Amino acid sequence: MTDWKDTLNLPRTDFPMKANLPATEPATIARWDAMGLHARLRDVRSGRPRFVMHDGPPYANGEIHIGHALNKILKDLVIKSRSMAGFDAPYVPGWDCHGLPIELNVEKDKHAPDKDRSPAEFRRACRAFAAKFVDSQREDFKRLGILGDWDNPYLTMNPAYQADIVRALGRFVERGLVYKGKKPVYWCLRDRTALAEAEVEYETHKSPSIYVEFPLALAGHALLDPRVPALAGRDVTALIWTTTPWTIPSNLAIAFHPDFEYAAYEVESRVVILASALAARVAEATGRPFGRQIATFSGRTLEGATFRHPFYDRDSAGVLAEYVTLDQGTGAVHTAPGHGSDDFATGVRYGLEIYAPIGVNGRFSEELPVVGGLKVFEANPAVEAELEKQGRLWHRSDFEHSYPHCWRCHSPVIFLATPQWFISMDGLREDAVAAAGAVAWLPDWGRERMTGMFMTRPDWCISRQRAWGVPIPALTCRACNSSHLTPAIVERAATVFEQHNADAWYEMPLEAFVPDGFRCPGCGGADFERDRDILDVWFDSGSSHLAVLAKRAELAWPADLYVEGTDQYRGWFQSSLLVGVGTRRQAPYKGVLTHGFVVDLHGRKMSKSLGNVVSPQQVIKESGAEVLRLWVAMVDYRDEVRLGKEVLARTVEAYRKIRNTFRYLLSNLYDFDPAVHAVPKEQMLAVDRYALSRYATLADDVRHAYEAFDFQTIFHAVNTFMTVDLSAFYLDVSKDRLYTFGPSSVERRSAQTAQYIIADGLTRLIAPILSITSEEVWARLPGPREESVHLAVFPSDPGAWRDRALDDEWQQLLAVRGAVNAALERARQQKDIGNALSADVSVAASGATADLLDRYRDDLPMLFITSAATVTRRADEGLEVTVVPAAGGKCPRCWRFVTELPPGVDHTDLCRRCEAAVEGVRAV
Ligand SMILES: [Zn+2]
Ligand SMILES: [Zn+2]
Ligand SMILES: [Zn+2]
Repeated sequence: MTDWKDTLNLPRTDFPMKANLPATEPATIARWDAMGLHARLRDVRSGRPRFVMHDGPPYANGEIHIGHALNKILKDLVIKSRSMAGFDAPYVPGWDCHGLPIELNVEKDKHAPDKDRSPAEFRRACRAFAAKFVDSQREDFKRLGILGDWDNPYLTMNPAYQADIVRALGRFVERGLVYKGKKPVYWCLRDRTALAEAEVEYETHKSPSIYVEFPLALAGHALLDPRVPALAGRDVTALIWTTTPWTIPSNLAIAFHPDFEYAAYEVESRVVILASALAARVAEATGRPFGRQIATFSGRTLEGATFRHPFYDRDSAGVLAEYVTLDQGTGAVHTAPGHGSDDFATGVRYGLEIYAPIGVNGRFSEELPVVGGLKVFEANPAVEAELEKQGRLWHRSDFEHSYPHCWRCHSPVIFLATPQWFISMDGLREDAVAAAGAVAWLPDWGRERMTGMFMTRPDWCISRQRAWGVPIPALTCRACNSSHLTPAIVERAATVFEQHNADAWYEMPLEAFVPDGFRCPGCGGADFERDRDILDVWFDSGSSHLAVLAKRAELAWPADLYVEGTDQYRGWFQSSLLVGVGTRRQAPYKGVLTHGFVVDLHGRKMSKSLGNVVSPQQVIKESGAEVLRLWVAMVDYRDEVRLGKEVLARTVEAYRKIRNTFRYLLSNLYDFDPAVHAVPKEQMLAVDRYALSRYATLADDVRHAYEAFDFQTIFHAVNTFMTVDLSAFYLDVSKDRLYTFGPSSVERRSAQTAQYIIADGLTRLIAPILSITSEEVWARLPGPREESVHLAVFPSDPGAWRDRALDDEWQQLLAVRGAVNAALERARQQKDIGNALSADVSVAASGATADLLDRYRDDLPMLFITSAATVTRRADEGLEVTVVPAAGGKCPRCWRFVTELPPGVDHTDLCRRCEAAVEGVRAV
């Protein structure tokens, strides 16, 4: 018996079924490097409309984690898809290099104790530390298949960047928006620095909760007695509540709400004042009932009343404030203008001193009675003891509440008025709100969130008392101790930083930074010293659009898009917009796309202690970067994104399906040269044109989804197309034609033409997501093509293949196919037939369905994968399918039953179609 296998056009390809991604991916990435792919792309796209996505710089401190992977892969999907849509879409990655965490790590380095290091030496160690992690993170990002200008990233510690940071500050100085003031800011006692709002996290903390009586002064009686006669001659106190006893030494006022009702209650021989609405609750909380109520009056009555500090020889002013609430406390609010932002505002309104007798060492001034020399939190018991001694402590207990903590060292922070540099929101707020309102936020709730933040945020405290950052180049007059920051001073420093780097501030003689002829505007003095504060690192990264977008020729200002996690509303989105509005009166971005955070399968944050951390390095090692990339495309990144073993296993499975589809398509194209063999559309078989019409719809959907950054829809669309349209139908019904027809027959070439167009198009469409696998496919596709799929563009005009009439017809044919398949399955189970090829199907239909089937009469055996199929007409609606064994004998080559052979299965003769095909093979 002849083995006809050699005469069949069986699929063949060297595209491996098993991807072995961990081992093979690095070669593709190395090839991109060697060919300078990112630069090549710039050349190829030169002159095209530009799309600028600006990279938010990760912090150069430690290895990348899964959150970085999600963020960078999303950015890569955006960039690559815009590039393949024909845009010139460069990607310039960046790193945030200054800041406290790096300092802390360098301080931990025991080999170089700080006492032996000058500030400049310490900064050099910080620079080296940051550079080390820029390098390692860069390698990891490249390993994820992310394409960018990795050899020329932006670093906030580069001299030119440092100069641009200072110049951005200079623009604020020019506009008169920068001032030095004593103002309460979040202060970390442990790190000895001011903290930004964004650097504070709320954690549960146990504080003392104390109720304290402030006696009414004689002067207070003079004012109050005529207004509230019942109080005349009585011993009167106001009752306040606080959880920070250490701020009592700094008390300068008691705030009352102008419109609340306050009441005076008899308690033993004296009278105690508090908000009447809170009296019952306070009595219960303290276990001390109030006696008879002898008077009520509005809060307004208490404005100007003078109280006495409970243990210092000074007054505490009765003031009014709208922020006083009835939620907690007594309605009489202890006010220390140096230790709270509301307190500060009230202090400014009433002309009180911004008093905070605490040094940067976190200790009270030595000369202060009761608490002198004590650390802040050590002062709590001392204050309580003194209040007790003076008979002014009404009640004390412990109180658990949410309290601000330092995001780095997790110590409780305090509000402390220290001299700091600020950017005033007064001159910026309206512009910032308007600019944020004009941005396209994705999702669009971002607009409200961002504008709301700008409406309420306090002035921006831009100074930090640290070493590793960009110095605020202010000069302090030695004669009158006033600090000066002028446009000329700032520009002078920027020039020096640009030539050296910002270390120069700590190393070069002062003259280098004093503008020629500069005199102290206050006293005319000419003897200065330099300030030692550095800029808030959020100002550094917030200036990136000036230092990068406005500077590099391949980019443009403003950016089309920023892409970061939702935490950046209070971070980078905010600081970037403020710097944009402060320097150019406009937001530095037209659009902002945000993503959620990666959590475990139970929705919990990943942490070492929970043991639920999935590291990108581990996934790459076990499954490959492509699996992470596909995972990013499969999830709804707008929300929290779940990741764990099961999710990874599902992703690996999805990857395998996609890979196998590509492999099968390639395996049918081994002898196909599109330039020579492509069949013109009008000569193609209807089923091939239908497959291309489906593909056209897919290509359209995918392109639209890329435009909307809706990667999840892309995955689903591609997956459905591959499984439903291709595997379950088109590829199945095409096998007979591809394998058994003459290699050069129009039937086979028609199928190859369709599969070639689909394979080529799918490779382009999936390339932004499966960037490495698509390269493997691309290299094996026939026909001349770009050296990398990423240099190519999305399929041009797939819409030309769209044929709605054909779609409709084939949707109906597929419905018939479903009914036939069910009948075949029943016949097989009843052992009437073997496989489908041994069957002869007869479909009885009526009306339009019968007409349609009649028209496709010749395609029906192919559609049903049977040896024969006939159509008959019936009067009734609906289909009737009859299955009988096919007549004739089985062709040993194509396994169809044909009537030209006598019944039987052991034939050596071929069917007529195979005879012709084998002729064709021999001819080839
Ligand atoms: Zn801290
Ligand atoms: Zn002076
Ligand atoms: Zn045959």
